[in-house]
Amino acid sequence: MIELKSTREIELMREAGRVVAGLLDHLTTYARPGVKTKDLDQEALAYLRTHAAKPAFLGYRGFPATICVSINEEVVHGIPGERAIASGDLVSLDVGAIVNGFYADAAATVVIGTAPSKAQQLTRTTQRALEAGIAQAVVGHRLSDISHAVQQVIEREGFGVVRDFVGHGIGRALHEDPPIPNFGPPHIGPRLQVGMVLAIEPMVTMGHYDVEVLADGWTAVTKDRSLAAHFEHTVAITEHGPDVLTQRADGS
Ligand code: MG
Repeated sequence: MIELKSTREIELMREAGRVVAGLLDHLTTYARPGVKTKDLDQEALAYLRTHAAKPAFLGYRGFPATICVSINEEVVHGIPGERAIASGDLVSLDVGAIVNGFYADAAATVVIGTAPSKAQQLTRTTQRALEAGIAQAVVGHRLSDISHAVQQVIEREGFGVVRDFVGHGIGRALHEDPPIPNFGPPHIGPRLQVGMVLAIEPMVTMGHYDVEVLADGWTAVTKDRSLAAHFEHTVAITEHGPDVLTQRADGS
């Protein structure tokens, strides 16, 4: 069942969204060659504590860290550790926070230094796919209109849409109904209503979309080890259109 949020609840979620957006801004600045992924994680935990927020991922189904950091062929759920970021890396940062019992969730892929133009195209396309999905988060549309719009943008550029992981509803829990695939035909699924809050999150590969999970039980990588990118926003559906609760300072 899809739980609808009141205006008051959406305002509470906006608090969590602001913290998540601010943290992503902070980590984007902090991520540079030589920084270890565990340094990003410590920085994230400190940021959340300073902002009266709790980490949403730490301990979730046993996840051992505050944020997910996924580099290059890692798609999602990378565990921060000793790895140092290198110039040319695609670093996907996935961040979740709890404020006043409400969750927000967002992700972005950061290009470190200069990367090949194809890698930059992958990142830009993933971000544009998210924007196209958000544009469909409008009262009266159906859920798969979001999925279809995301897929169109990605496949037009010849990239792969990950099937094994999908977006989700969000609110008093990190993962609520409905699941939101990034693929599929339009005009099916539940009709979108005021008060739905959705975490829309395209995961995109340069090669084939098949993924596998490494022996750590978490890190999902592309099977063909091609590069991947991931962008995510927490979006409330309002009578005035989509309201991006995790909007970044630069408007992205
Ligand atoms: Mg998510």
